[in-house]
This record gives sequence, structure tokens and C-alpha cells, in this order.
Amino acid sequence: MSNVHELKYLQDQVQELKDQGVYRVLPILEGANEAEVILNGKKVINLSSNNYLGFASHPKLKKAAIEAVEKYGVGSGAVRTIIGNMDIHEELEKKLAVFKREEAVMVFQSGFNCNAGAIQAITNKGDLIISDELNHASIIDGVKLSKADKAVYKHSDMADLERVLIERRSQYENCLIITDGVFSMDGDIAKLPEIVELAEKYNCMTYVDDAHGSGVLGESGRGTVDHFHLHGRIDFSIGTLSKAIGVIGGYVAGSKVMKEWLLHRGRPLLFSTSLPPAAVGAIMEAVDLLSSTTEYTDRLWHNARFFKAELGKLGFNTGASETPITPVIVGDEAKTVAFSKRMLEMGVFVSPIVFPTVPKGTGRVRCMVTAGHTEEQLVRAVAVFEQVGKEMGLI
Ligand SMILES: *Cc1c(COP(=O)(O)O)cnc(C)c1O
Repeated sequence: MSNVHELKYLQDQVQELKDQGVYRVLPILEGANEAEVILNGKKVINLSSNNYLGFASHPKLKKAAIEAVEKYGVGSGAVRTIIGNMDIHEELEKKLAVFKREEAVMVFQSGFNCNAGAIQAITNKGDLIISDELNHASIIDGVKLSKADKAVYKHSDMADLERVLIERRSQYENCLIITDGVFSMDGDIAKLPEIVELAEKYNCMTYVDDAHGSGVLGESGRGTVDHFHLHGRIDFSIGTLSKAIGVIGGYVAGSKVMKEWLLHRGRPLLFSTSLPPAAVGAIMEAVDLLSSTTEYTDRLWHNARFFKAELGKLGFNTGASETPITPVIVGDEAKTVAFSKRMLEMGVFVSPIVFPTVPKGTGRVRCMVTAGHTEEQLVRAVAVFEQVGKEMGLI
């Protein structure tokens, strides 16, 4: 008889992953997440991080983090509702609200946490949540935690969204339409003006998760809502502090009453310790930097446009991206993994993304260009793309 503590059922499932060729070994980064890194002991150009602005190791952010540690320590010591709410947490929320041009901001410990906490808090039995089919996993999990009924519309398909509204809206008290601001696998932007119009026509609330738009789109990285000049017409505007901002955390920007309610019902705020001082100090520095100059966002977009144009000239298919997220479509799943592997051998790290994360036959390597890349690094990366692309018959 086998010992239950051998976790045989997990061993079997891990073996299945190995048999299917999808067993994962984590790459190991030695040092900061920068444009060029030491990965598994080898120096490579990094085209896979979300560190859009190079803030993750920016000297000013590091200094602000160290200063916050000196004054406040390494941990906040409690959840916010007990005694983990420091003056810097309050200051951060005020600063973010001004930056986002909204009435109020409530900060969470991560973007994932924010979706897990906010969606269930603002919806209830008798409500309907309508979600884009390509929304992020943390939205899907957040929606699962809600007592509301759920519906999904085809990706960015406004006719399909309206079909759901016509069929179901009248049976519910409140209705919340949720979308990513920027879709992370393709880099396309949500059709927010049309979504807002439909929401207003059918008396629905709107929730935009702008994890990949924060620090990237809009004036100085104020996000997708700012990009479309929709201030005041989106009820819940979610951002992450973990990607372009370079640190960790998430937030909801919106009305004062949103903040009051989340303070009472946002479970990650009530039951999980608040952001550590170092993170808060560094994030405030990042927001100050973004507010004072467009240098970082300008460089990000310059680099992204340059890189995309160069890949395009070589004949690569870079999909429907409208943002620095640059997918290079390979197609077949095994070929995509082989492509990424060969790129790494040649000194460029681009992560392979295949089914079930994206539809079958649309495997791609996803390139994340940042403000931290030099033109020389991008030129070198493009040369490797050309060589491997030719070797594998992609161009
Ligand atoms: C990355 C991401 C998150 C998670 O943000 P973290 O701060 O890393 O937890 C949430 N939503 C979307 C759309 C994302 O892309």
C-alpha cells in the first residue's frame, strides 16, 4: 500500500506534464532585471520583462526604497485596517489619484490581489458581470469569487457584447463590463470608447484592468483611460505597480465611495499585510519621475517602433499589436518552443507563448521592448531574429 504522504496523485500529474513536453524549469536570473542580463549563467539580451521603463533598478527608485527602509523598516507589521496603514501608504494613494486624474485610489499588494479583492467586493447576487474572453487570469479568478452571474463576449467584438446586453441586461440589478486595457498576449488596445458607449446605453458600470497600459499609454503613462480621454466615464480603473512602475502592487482608481467601500470589503486589504515601506517609497519616486518628464515613455515608444519596423522589414508577422508588446507569430507549438530555444542559444531571451495561453496554431514569441534597451542591443537582437528566422524558414 502506498503512503499517502508520497503524494502519488501529484507525482502522476507531474509525470503527465513531462510526457506532454510542458514540464517547466525556471530560468534563473543573476542580478537585476535589465536590458541585458545573466540568465542561467549566460549573458543575453532580455526581451521578456515587463520592466517597460527600466524602473526596476533605477538609481532614484533604489535610493527612495533604501530611505523608506531606514525610516519605516522592512515590513509594515500588520494589515491596513489594524495598524499597517503608514503615512506613506496614504501619501502614495493621494499621489496616484492626482496622477491618474481620479477622485481616489485604493492600493493593493499586487495587481492579481486587486482583481481577486475588488471584483467580488463591488458585485453581488442578482448582478451580471460581462467579461472579454481574453481577459487576464486574475480577472477570471476575481470573477469566480463573485456571487454575480457571469457572461463572456468574443474578444473586442462590440456586436457580441451588445448581443449579451440585449439578451441579459434587463434581468439584473447591476451590470459590470470588465476588460483588459491592453491585452497582454497580442498587445492590442481595448475598444474603450465603444465599450463606454454601450455601458452608458445599457446602464452598466465599467472596470478596466490596465496592467499593461499603466506607465505605457496616455500622457506620461497615465494609462488607457487617459489615452482615450475617458476620465470620469470608467467606474473602476485598475493599474499595476509591478510592470512599468517597476516595483510591486496594484490599485483601483475611481470615486471616493469606491475607496470607502473597498476599505470595508476588499478582502486582501482586510486579511493580508500592506505593501512594505521599500515598495511604497520606490513607487512614489516612480510616479514623481513620470509626472516630471516624458523622457522614459518617449524612449519606450521610440524603441518599440524601431524594433517593430525592423522585424517588419525582415518579413516577420508581428500581429495586431498597438503597444510595445511585440508578438512574433511562429505558428506551430513545437516550432515556437524550438524557435525560442535557438534564440536563447544565440544570446536573445524571448519567451514562447503557446496553446492554451493563445489559440492553437498561433504560437508566438512575445518580445517586450523597454526604454532600457539601447539601439545597439535592439539591432543585435534583430540580427539574431534574422538568422534564426531564416534557419527555421519563417522568413
Ligand atoms: C500582470 C497582470 C496582472 C497582475 O499584476 P501583478 O501586479 O503582477 O500581480 C493583472 N492583470 C493584468 C491584465 C496583467 O497583465
